[in-house]
Amino acid sequence: MFKLTKYVLMVFDQALGDLFVVRTAGNVVDPVAIGSVEYALEHLKVPLIVVLGHMKCGAVKATVAGGEAPGSIGAVVAKIKPSFDKVKANGVAGDEAVEETATENVGATIAELKKSPVIKHLLESGKVSIVGAKYHLDTGKVQWFEQ
Ligand SMILES: [Zn+2]
Repeated sequence: MFKLTKYVLMVFDQALGDLFVVRTAGNVVDPVAIGSVEYALEHLKVPLIVVLGHMKCGAVKATVAGGEAPGSIGAVVAKIKPSFDKVKANGVAGDEAVEETATENVGATIAELKKSPVIKHLLESGKVSIVGAKYHLDTGKVQWFEQ
């Protein structure tokens, strides 16, 4: 767990404790993850939500590959599937479909977070902002999405 947090710290050059990291496969959110974000905003006064996807995401690859996902991985895949369905409908396939699905999925997670009344209220008050981004494994660069 510490190792994963350190990884994110390195990406944004932040010191220990500067980031409240809610990390899930495929950057999907469920009520526990949304509650964790709400806690960070309400109690720790975190001013910015970054939904950070990444290239060559295994969870997205599993979604695009289809088939049976073992255990609770199916719950992750089910969250990503609507994003892949959109990409597939545009006739995109292969590695390109993985990357476009990952990008679409960041947007889907932002949309889901915005449905939380707590987050919605804080966004509307201007106390909190939300942005999407994608981490490029090959270059170490973070690409910020347009709003
Ligand atoms: Zn991933």
